[in-house]
Amino acid sequence: MTKMVAPSAQPLPSFRTLAFIDGAFVPAMSGRTFRAENPATGALLAEVSACDAVDVDRAVTAARRAFEEGRWASLRPVDRKRTLLRFAELIRAHREELALTETLNMGKPITDALRIDARAAADCFAYYGECCDKIYGEVAPTTPDQLALVLREPVGVVACVTPWNFPMVMAAWKVAPALAMGNSVVLKPAEQSPLTALRLAELAHEAGIPAGVFNVVPGLGEEAGQALGLHMDVDAIAFTGSTEVGKLFMGYSAQSNLKRVHLECGGKTAFVVAHDVPDLDAVAEAVAGGIFFNQGEMCTAASRLLVDNRIRADLVARIAALATQWMPGDPLDPAARAGAVVSREHQQRILAAIAQGQKDGARLVTGGAAVREETGGAFVAPTILDDVCPSSALAQQEIFGPVLSVIGFDGLDEAVEIANGTIYGLGASIWSADLAAAHKVARRFKAGIVYVNCFDADDITTPFGGMKQSGFGRDKSLHALEKYSDLKTVWTRL
Ligand code: NAP
Ligand code: MG
Repeated sequence: MTKMVAPSAQPLPSFRTLAFIDGAFVPAMSGRTFRAENPATGALLAEVSACDAVDVDRAVTAARRAFEEGRWASLRPVDRKRTLLRFAELIRAHREELALTETLNMGKPITDALRIDARAAADCFAYYGECCDKIYGEVAPTTPDQLALVLREPVGVVACVTPWNFPMVMAAWKVAPALAMGNSVVLKPAEQSPLTALRLAELAHEAGIPAGVFNVVPGLGEEAGQALGLHMDVDAIAFTGSTEVGKLFMGYSAQSNLKRVHLECGGKTAFVVAHDVPDLDAVAEAVAGGIFFNQGEMCTAASRLLVDNRIRADLVARIAALATQWMPGDPLDPAARAGAVVSREHQQRILAAIAQGQKDGARLVTGGAAVREETGGAFVAPTILDDVCPSSALAQQEIFGPVLSVIGFDGLDEAVEIANGTIYGLGASIWSADLAAAHKVARRFKAGIVYVNCFDADDITTPFGGMKQSGFGRDKSLHALEKYSDLKTVWTRL
C-alpha cells in the first residue's frame, strides 16, 4: 500500500512558479504574476508568472527552433520511447509531491490525486512512449508501376490549453501523444491550477526531453491562451475546457493561420435508469459516484438522472441516503471522498445555479448550500434536485459541481429524447436488466462515451471525447495520435 500524506502540518512542496521556456525557468517579460491559491483554505500558495503574448512568442519560437533542428523529431523512435518511459518513471517517483501539489492547488482529495491523477498521468506518458516505435506508415494499393507511400509526420508546434479539474491528466492526454509523434509542445495550464504543469516540464527535462520541446506558459486565458490561439506559428491547438472558450479557439484559428483545432468541451451526461434494473442500491452507488466524485467537476459527471417514474422516488431516496458519504472534508485527509471546489467564484456560480433551478420549479431533496465555511475554503454540499424540467437551465447548462438534476420519464423512447435534448454529447449511461434493449438505447445516444450498466469506466486504450458541442477529436488510445500528425503522400513512378 502506498504511504499516504498526513492530513495536517504538511510542509509545502517548493512550487515552481516561473514559465518553463527552452529548457529553463524564466519570469514573464512583464514581471507580472498571478495568485495560485488553495481553495480549501483561501490561502495564497505562490505568485506565478503571468505570461502574455510576448512570452508565448518566446515559447513558440523555442518550440519551432527545437522542431526544425530535429532535436526531438529526428531522434530514433526508440530513443523517444526510452525518454518518455523515463519521464513516466520520474512522475511515478515524484507522485506524492505531484499529488500534494494538485490537491493544494485545486482542492481534490489527496487520495484521488495520488491514486488516480498522478498514476494516470504517468501511465499516459508510458502508453504513448510505447507507441513511438510501433506506428507505421502505409503503402497505397495503387497500380503496380507506381509506389505511393503514405507517411505520418508530426505537425510541428502543438499548443495545449487545459482546464483545472484534472490538471495533470488533461495535460498528459495531450502532451504525451503530441510528443510521441515528434512534435514540440507549448502547454498553457488553467490559471486556477498551474503548479503541477510547471513541475512536469522540469521532470520532462530531467528525463532527457531536449530544451524547447516541452514548454509551459502559465497565464490567463485572455492573454496567454488567446496568444497561442492567434499565433501564426502554432500548427495545432489541443484544447480541453468549456464549449464557450472552445468556440473562441475556432475563431482564433480562422483569424490567424488556420491551425488545426481539436476541442474537448463541456458535457451534460444523462444517466438513464429503466424500471427493470435488478439492484437499485448498485444504481444509487453509481449515480452518487457519478455526480459527486471530484466535487462534480467532471466533464462526464452524471449531472442528469433520467429515471423511470415507477422507481423514481425509491431511487432518489437511496441516492440521498448516500449523499452524506460524499460530504466534503479536508482534501488533505486521506479519508475524504470529496474536497473543495476550485475557487470561491466557482462555488458562488454553483450555488446560483441551484437557486435558479429552485426558482424554475425544481425541488431540493438534499444539500444546496455552502459547507465548511469556517475553513475559509470553497465547499459545496452534495446536492440533489428532483422534478427538474428537461428544458430548464438546471438540466441544460453544465454546472461543474456536485449537483444532480432528477428527471422522470415514462418509457425509453422519452428517455432517449430527453437524453439527447441538450447541446452536449459527451457521456451517457443506460441501466437495464434487458441488455438488448440497453444496447439499442446505447446506439441512439448522441454521445462519444456510453456506459451500459456501469459508469465512468476508464482506460487509456479507449478514445475519449464528445459529439455535438462537446467537441470533436479524441483524447486517449491510438486514435489520439491522429491529431498530432499529418499525412503526406509520396509518389514514385517505378
Ligand atoms: P475554460 O474556462 O474553458 O478554460 C479552459 C482553458 O482555456 C484554460 O486554460 C483557460 O485559461 C483557457 N481560456 C479561458 N478563456 C480563454 C480565452 N478567452 N482565450 C483562450 N484561452 C482561454 O474551462 P475550465 O473552467 O478551466 O474547465 C472546465 C471545463 O472543461 C468544463 O466545461 C468541462 O466540461 C471541460 N472539460 C472537458 C473535458 C473533455 O474531455 N471533454 C475534460 C475536462 C474538462 P484560464 O484558466 O486562465 O482562464
Ligand atoms: Mg479564465
